Amino acid sequence: MADITPAEIDRLYEKLDKEAASAGYNLNPEKAMTRELLNGLLMNQQRYGYPSCPCRLASGKKEADLDIICPCDYRDPDLEDFGACYCSLYVSKGVAEGKEKARSIPERRPSRDKRLKVKEEKKEATISSLPLPVWRCKVCGYLCAREVPPGVCPICKAGKERFERFI
Ligand code: SF4
Repeated sequence: MADITPAEIDRLYEKLDKEAASAGYNLNPEKAMTRELLNGLLMNQQRYGYPSCPCRLASGKKEADLDIICPCDYRDPDLEDFGACYCSLYVSKGVAEGKEKARSIPERRPSRDKRLKVKEEKKEATISSLPLPVWRCKVCGYLCAREVPPGVCPICKAGKERFERFI
């Protein structure tokens, strides 16, 4: 595995910082720590082919790790409840501005068994009576009603695999 270069980290930092600002999120202003986390994301990208959470152990199977591809499914509720995501890569506005302190963040991701159970339950759930299913982009919240999710989110450019069935 090739080493991650400072220039690669700089590029990712710039990209995520811009995306965060335009979507109302904040990267952790502790630059050294944030760069370490970005290094972890880039290493996971190299290792698995997708940027899974640097603070969690990925399975290496994308389908099973979709919920922990950064930004993970747990970012928004953790920001809401604790002022930071599990890794503290993203922090609330108050924390970013130094007005609040992030609290310690318990792991919100369910165990593997629970995740599998929920997946099965979702499969069995009654299909809504709407003429078309509604899809939600898990990255930016964009919603659309169509047969299948779009290939790329028109708002944040996340890939098709980041969409979930909303209704
Ligand atoms: S948003 Fe935070 S906790 Fe979630 S995957 Fe990214 S770095 Fe990890």
